[in-house]
Amino acid sequence: MSAPLLHWIDGKAVPSAGGTTRAGTNPSTGGPGAEVSLGTADDVDFAVRAAHGAAKGWRHTGSLDRGRILAAISRRLLADLDELAAMESADTGKPLALSMAEIRGAAEYFEFYAALVNLPVGEVLDIQPNLHVYTLREPLGVVGVITPWNLPLNQAARACAPALAAGNTIVAKPAESTSRTTVALARIGSEEGLPPGAFNVVLGQGSEVGTAIVRHPLVRKVAFTGSVPVGQEIGRIAADRILPLTLELGGKSANIVFADADLEFAASEAVRAFTTNAGQVCSSGTRLLVQREIQERFTAAVVAATRKLRPGHEVGPMITRGQWETVRRYFRIAAEEGATAEVGGGVPLDSELAAGFYVEPTVYSGVTNDMRIAREEIFGPVVVIIPFETEDEAVALANDSDFGLVGGVFTSDMSRAIRVAESIEAGQVYINSWSTQSVQMPFGGHKHSGYGREKGIEALNHYSHIKSISMRLTGR
Ligand code: NAP
Ligand code: MG
Repeated sequence: MSAPLLHWIDGKAVPSAGGTTRAGTNPSTGGPGAEVSLGTADDVDFAVRAAHGAAKGWRHTGSLDRGRILAAISRRLLADLDELAAMESADTGKPLALSMAEIRGAAEYFEFYAALVNLPVGEVLDIQPNLHVYTLREPLGVVGVITPWNLPLNQAARACAPALAAGNTIVAKPAESTSRTTVALARIGSEEGLPPGAFNVVLGQGSEVGTAIVRHPLVRKVAFTGSVPVGQEIGRIAADRILPLTLELGGKSANIVFADADLEFAASEAVRAFTTNAGQVCSSGTRLLVQREIQERFTAAVVAATRKLRPGHEVGPMITRGQWETVRRYFRIAAEEGATAEVGGGVPLDSELAAGFYVEPTVYSGVTNDMRIAREEIFGPVVVIIPFETEDEAVALANDSDFGLVGGVFTSDMSRAIRVAESIEAGQVYINSWSTQSVQMPFGGHKHSGYGREKGIEALNHYSHIKSISMRLTGR
C-alpha cells in the first residue's frame, strides 16, 4: 500500500493534525483505492492562516510575474498530462482519453487567466473639477474552493486559476474520493513559483473540512461546485457571515429538437449530451424534448446510438458507490412511474464489470415532465424523452424545472433558434450542438442551479471587488 495522500499547506505536504487517514474505493473494481488524510477544523485553520499570510505578498507580486507563474502551471499540466490523467482515471474510473481532455481543459484555464492578470482594472471618473475619483479592482483575500468528484482537476482549475489571477490566495477542498489531482495541482503551483501559502489543499470530508472552510472568519469568499442540498447548507452559513458565494449546482437541462433539425447530427449530439462522463456532468442534457411528428424516428436513432456505448469501454463507472446506488434507485423510480426503458434501465450483466459501479446508458420514453425522473437530477447516463407540439410548448416545458443550468435547441430555422435560446431560463444555451464548452464562455446557473459565474472574463468579477476612491483637490 502506498503512503497516504497528504494535505498541501504553506508550500509543502503535511499530515493531518489528528493523523487520521481513510482508504478510498476504486470505482472500476469496487476494490481499495487511494488512501487520503482526513483533515479537521485544525488543519483548515492552519491552511487558512497560511493563505492569509501569503495574501499580501501574492497580491503585490508584479502582475507580469503572476501571469508568468500561471502560464508555467499551464505548461506543467500539459507536460505532466500522462501522469495526471492516469491519476484521475485511477480515482474516477474514467476512460483515459476523457481524463486527458479534462486536464488539457485545466491547462487552458491557467493559460487563459495567465493572460488576464492585468484585466481587473479600475476607471477614472470625471465627476467635478475639485475631485479626483477613481475605482480599483481588489482581490477578496482568502478564497475557499470546494469541488465535487465528477471532473476533479478540471473543476479545481476552473475556480483556482481566476481566483489566483485576480490576486487571491486559496484553500481548496476536493471531494474526498477524488483528491489526488488537486493536491498535484497545488504541488505543481508551488514548484512553478507560487509563494508558500498561496494555494493550499485540505483533504477530508465535506461535513468537517468543507464546513470549517465556510465558517472560518479569514475566508472571504467561497466558490462551491456540487449538489443543491450542500449549496443550501453553505448558503445558510454564508448568510450569517455575509460571505460572498459562487454556487455551481446541479441541472436537469432541456435539449429541444424540432422536426426541421439535422436529425442525424441532433441524435448523435443528444446521446453525447447525456452519456459524456457516464452522465456525471452538471451540464448534461437529460430532458430530451422532441417534436411529436419526429418522435418515433428520433427516439429510434437515439436508442441505436446509445446501444453502441459499452460500459467499461466508452462509458466509465459511476465514480462513487453512493452515486451508483442513486442511479439504480432512479431505475426503480422510473419503473414505478410507468416509464418505458427503450434501452438500459439496469446494471450491465457482463461478469467482468460486476464489482465496479457500472450502469447501462438508459433512454426512457412514456415520460411526462411532472415525473420525478424528469424533475430530479439523476447524475448518470439517463435521458428522458418528452414530446411537444409547438415552440411555445417546448419553451414552457424547458422552463418548467427547478433547475436552470443549460439548454439546447436543434432547428434549421435560425429565427426560431434565437427566439427559443433567449426564452430558456438558463445560464447558457447551445444551438445546433451540445455543450460548446470553452474557457472563454461564462458559465453558471439560474434558479436551483446556482448563482455567480465561472469562466470567461466574467469570473474575474466574482473573485474581486471594486473600491471607489475620491480625493479632494485644492488650488483649482
Ligand atoms: P456534494 O455532495 O455537494 O459535494 C461537493 C463537495 O462539497 C465535496 O467536496 C464534498 O465533500 C463537499 N461537501 C459535502 N458536504 C459539505 C458541507 N456540509 N459543507 C461544505 N462542503 C461539503 O456533491 P457531489 O455529490 O460530490 O457531486 C454531484 C453534484 O455536483 C451534482 O448535483 C452535480 O450537478 C453537481 N455539480 C455541479 C457542477 C456545476 O458546475 N454546476 C459541476 C459538477 C457537479 P465530500 O464529498 O468529500 O465529503
Ligand atoms: Mg456528496
